[in-house]
Amino acid sequence: MDGAIMPPDVPPVVEGGCHGGRERMVDAARAAGKSAVLDRLTADYPRGPHDQPQSMCPAFGSLRVGLRMKRVATILSGSACCVYGLTFTAHFYGARRTVGYVPFNSESLVKGQLFEDIRNAVHDIAKPADYDAVVVINLCVPTASGVPLDLLPKHIDGVRIIGIDVPGFGVPTHAEAKDVLTGAMLKYARTEAEQGPVARPRVLQDKPTVAMLGEFFPADPPGVGALLGPMGMALAPVLPCREWRDLYAALDCDVAAAAHPFYTASVREFRAAGRPVVGSAPVGVEGTAAWLEAVGRAAGRPDSAVDAAKAAALPAIAAALAANPIKARITLSGYEGSELLVARLLMEAGAEIPYVGTACPRTEWSEADRAWLEARGTHVQYRASLEQDLCAMMDVRPDLAVGTTPLVQKAKELGIPALYYTNMVSARPLFGAPGAGALAAIVAAQTKGAARFGRMVSFFEGVGTGDASGYGWKGKPVEPQGARERTRKARLAKAKSLEAVGT
Ligand code: SF4
Repeated sequence: MDGAIMPPDVPPVVEGGCHGGRERMVDAARAAGKSAVLDRLTADYPRGPHDQPQSMCPAFGSLRVGLRMKRVATILSGSACCVYGLTFTAHFYGARRTVGYVPFNSESLVKGQLFEDIRNAVHDIAKPADYDAVVVINLCVPTASGVPLDLLPKHIDGVRIIGIDVPGFGVPTHAEAKDVLTGAMLKYARTEAEQGPVARPRVLQDKPTVAMLGEFFPADPPGVGALLGPMGMALAPVLPCREWRDLYAALDCDVAAAAHPFYTASVREFRAAGRPVVGSAPVGVEGTAAWLEAVGRAAGRPDSAVDAAKAAALPAIAAALAANPIKARITLSGYEGSELLVARLLMEAGAEIPYVGTACPRTEWSEADRAWLEARGTHVQYRASLEQDLCAMMDVRPDLAVGTTPLVQKAKELGIPALYYTNMVSARPLFGAPGAGALAAIVAAQTKGAARFGRMVSFFEGVGTGDASGYGWKGKPVEPQGARERTRKARLAKAKSLEAVGT
């Protein structure tokens, strides 16, 4: 093709994925020229005890951030099965946008045709009347095979083109994948703003502003704006944002607030723009007081302004907590990044929380929350694996276990009342006075169900478990003698015969 940018030599196709062996994929990606990308991802998102995703595909985080923005097209480049899962999940969560897909096969991947196909797709879709930006996301196999998205044009007719690698073997959680795209877009927007005038913000603020990082319940950002008002400050657009021009307004803030503590790449852009960054968030009385002080200090507000904001907010939060006490022993685990904040709030309301597990890494933005929790006897586990969360729950035997789907399933098997973290947190406010009163009712309703769970466990007593379970049998199902051993031997023989091919 005339004027086509030819990709460098593409090494042989790599097949694999979540279960294909991380080391193999990493080696292939490095051999294919992706070392700099992998080094950046490893520095930004240090790994933990588990080295493969234990929840949904991490790329979902980037996909979701792109799909939620107006006038932004999102294209996936990856294996069809991965793309099927990602689009299914995206629409399950109400994306209501088209997910673009550039399919490939071994031949188009090996010959570098996939890159050309992506490039053509980007040219086809990048129409300024329709889009401000086009995002292309490399999933595991194209990343491991070195598909060079950095060679895509940076813009076409004014439409920005952003190519990112979001492999499951480089980005540990879908939370951090949100940061990969948000950080890439902030970098692009910051460079634009440095080069000349950019689009006006949707809402022009005449006060110093705070840009918050994280995905929040819709009522939370206006609530934080109300907390900042008495301090003479206002809220900038929250990141991840809804429109491209929100990126400029967020970068123009006076203080960036890393309320969700895993936005490492995004924080780097705020710092490059010369903006101070504060951690934690306005949860409960103590959390809100500390956060207002940190924001006021970072913005250079006088003590009197900070005191005015505290005086306006704290009594209402204390009253909401007093009116909604929580009397329960709770274990808490999740992968949203807000786990430590939710634990603080629950504890201020009276809950006992011996264990908090988060799939996210330890960063300086959650340090204040970690110290607060540990000072009160809570064990905080960063990069917690499902196994650690399960062990903690079985050890503590809480009145309520809040966690991910497999943890909730196990809790119910054990007769422990349990709640899915995402449903509990995302569907409720967390900050200020509304947050202080939001969790008590659901905790009380669930813990009251403990006796019912006990009855359920005793009802199913004796029906067996796993592949030996069954109801209505006269006895416990018995597996055919020697069947397992025969299957094992057959598998071994098949593997050996495949090994022999070509030798
Ligand atoms: S892209 Fe996601 S689903 Fe596909 S192999 Fe990688 S981690 Fe698994």
